[in-house]
Amino acid sequence: MTIPAVILNTINGCEAPAESGDVLSKRNPHDGSEICTFARSRTGDVEAAIAASCAAQPGWADLTPVRRGDILRDVALALRDRQEEVAAIVALETGKCPRDALGETGGAVELGMFMAGEGRRLYGRTTTSAVPNKSAMTIRGPVGVAGLIIAANTPIANVAWKVFPALICGNTAVLKAAEDTPATAWAFSRIAADAGLPPGVLNVVHGLGPEAGGPLVAHPAVDLISFTGSTEVGRRIAALAGQRLARVSLELGGKNPLVVCDDADMEKAVEWTLLSAFSNAGQRCAAASRIIIFDAIYDAFCERLIERTRKLTLGPTDQNDLGPVINLKQLERMVAVVSRANDNGATILTGGSRLLDSEHRDGFYMAPTLIEKAGPRSEISTHELFGPVACLYRVKGFRQALAMANDSPYGLTACIHTASLHRAQVFTQKVEAGAVVVNAGTYGSEPHMPFGGPKHSGNGWREPGTEALDVYSELKDVYINVDPKAL
Ligand code: NAD
Repeated sequence: MTIPAVILNTINGCEAPAESGDVLSKRNPHDGSEICTFARSRTGDVEAAIAASCAAQPGWADLTPVRRGDILRDVALALRDRQEEVAAIVALETGKCPRDALGETGGAVELGMFMAGEGRRLYGRTTTSAVPNKSAMTIRGPVGVAGLIIAANTPIANVAWKVFPALICGNTAVLKAAEDTPATAWAFSRIAADAGLPPGVLNVVHGLGPEAGGPLVAHPAVDLISFTGSTEVGRRIAALAGQRLARVSLELGGKNPLVVCDDADMEKAVEWTLLSAFSNAGQRCAAASRIIIFDAIYDAFCERLIERTRKLTLGPTDQNDLGPVINLKQLERMVAVVSRANDNGATILTGGSRLLDSEHRDGFYMAPTLIEKAGPRSEISTHELFGPVACLYRVKGFRQALAMANDSPYGLTACIHTASLHRAQVFTQKVEAGAVVVNAGTYGSEPHMPFGGPKHSGNGWREPGTEALDVYSELKDVYINVDPKAL
């Protein structure tokens, strides 16, 4: 697939420019060059996409869930057939290496296959009634039109994560693509249309959050908003959608702890810490950014971690360990927070700045950064940076580690490295997180598992897994009364 010079919106099966004709520039994070431009949509464009979704929704909902599943399976298989091409677009837009982009595309296919299968399940519940000759059950129906707003960090997975569950439940959708990854959303909608998804079932608008996402959230015909992004924007969306009592599912940020106990396998703990903190250049909601280490092994662990971190190489190829961050604004924000932390007494052990050597200076590269002696309530300890920056904290033992892990506004993922069943079990029970891992990394969930977290990491919903069906469907109680005299 060749990325067009201008990426247009997809509305009712047709590609259309923004009403104003305005475009925005998409830059390559690796070298700052322009990859393409894309439509700068505003209210009128969003309204056209919503109108197309409203018109298509009854017909889509009238298909049996099995038929919808058949069509979505065709979309997932078409995505699989073209996964090398899609991965190339993902890699170009994000600066991540082709191997990671391909893995992410494979995950999107898996999610599509899983959700297509839900067409044959979409279970309700049958149960008893207290009243003679009466039966009770629940059935699922669509919510209506879904507004889907996503982040750019894993662009094809983020599209799949929302579109497949929304559509299998009989909703139609308007996807507000992430402004940093317009081409991936465009490629998905092209593939879906070619694979037989009817026009109007999935509409895609491009543009900036307040200009294109805002009108989607505010529109009375949009029955449900599912948002993946920052806590700050999530809060704004919840307030706006709350005024009209629209359903809102928020998948937000994290400041995730990884605890290394004195009985941990040191080599494995170092390896998993590197991956948890720095893979995808730390641009993962699940990334570990607070590394909590027992006093007894702190010095030895840090020494190895710093040594390994300094050896990481940055670039866009499979030979590199991590790529650039997504845009200049994000890079500059991160550098500023690190610098303020340093001014306030934290120590930068390695990294801490933008890479300005000839190989990296045109791109948005942040050196993998380790920091110690940051206060647990300081800005850098409590604000998600969404980049390759992790803080190290020294604790006396398990109880202090658990307390520090939980001392956060967020609660998305958590991890512990220990040989002790007792520590592992108590940690998994007591840590305030939606996903907890023993002896590996802070990673997101598999397609068939629910993901999300308490506190400022979300608003209680879980996507994907079968739990996503609760986000995207409306439950209805059905009572059937039988008259024995009419038999
Ligand atoms: P962001 O909140 O700035 O933007 C996310 C999306 O929201 C973009 O499409 C943007 O255009 C849109 N948006 C921005 N302002 C808006 C507004 N006022 N109204 C409607 N839409 C608006 O986030 P980001 O920096 O692009 O992404 C990083 C964030 O996403 C991190 O906080 C990360 O943790 C989070 N994230 C969470 C998950 C999860 O599953 N919990 C997964 C991936 C990323």
